Amino acid sequence: MRVLVISDIHANLTALEAVLADAGPVDETWCLGDVVGYGPDPNEVVERLRDLPGLTCILGNHDVAVLGQMDYAVFNTEARKSLLWQKKNVTPANLSYLESLPKEAINRANVTLVHGSPRDPVWEYILNTLVARLNFPAFNTPYCLVGHSHIQCMFQLDPVQDRVSLEVPRPDQLRQLTPRAILNPGSVGQPRDRDPRSAYAIYDSQTFVWQARRVKYDVESVQKRIRAAELPEKHALRLAEGW
Ligand code: ZN
Repeated sequence: MRVLVISDIHANLTALEAVLADAGPVDETWCLGDVVGYGPDPNEVVERLRDLPGLTCILGNHDVAVLGQMDYAVFNTEARKSLLWQKKNVTPANLSYLESLPKEAINRANVTLVHGSPRDPVWEYILNTLVARLNFPAFNTPYCLVGHSHIQCMFQLDPVQDRVSLEVPRPDQLRQLTPRAILNPGSVGQPRDRDPRSAYAIYDSQTFVWQARRVKYDVESVQKRIRAAELPEKHALRLAEGW
């Protein structure tokens, strides 16, 4: 089964369309949350996503916030401003679709899917090998897919040495996975690893091959819509450089 793995679209329809076109035909799509927040196209993204065949989607912290299930005080000023705008603009139908999605870890094809981390699916960031190591006991499958940090990377556990290493896969390289690993496809709509191209991954559930990928999209058109909606300028600027 050829699986498209995406995360952190953040209401950026142009980036999502670029990823879907670049990925080509897939059997399933696994989306690791943060469908909305930051960007100008929350409704368009939800509507595009929900119609994808074979979709599994879980909620991220921004989705939970837009649903009114989280205190906005935990977000920084600009993220909060954007969340309030989204809350006002997302249609009731799209809100109730988001509401139907799970917040907890999900198992697909013997892979664990979460937004943040296995031990804290909505909020914890896995940004280093120490936090990754602490999370391996929190899931039972050979692989766990996470989003949230917007950094395309993988954490490999060496079970003999009991050591975790961090790897940043070269885009397009085919990586044969070996148990156990925590993998992050990166962010579709707001990459933060200084590469402004959309990040995603293709996973083959039969051969256990992971391919991290990047694709260019029209950043300027998204910046224009961010400015037209009077969303924070920072959210437009960061897209051009990927931070
Ligand atoms: Zn995010």
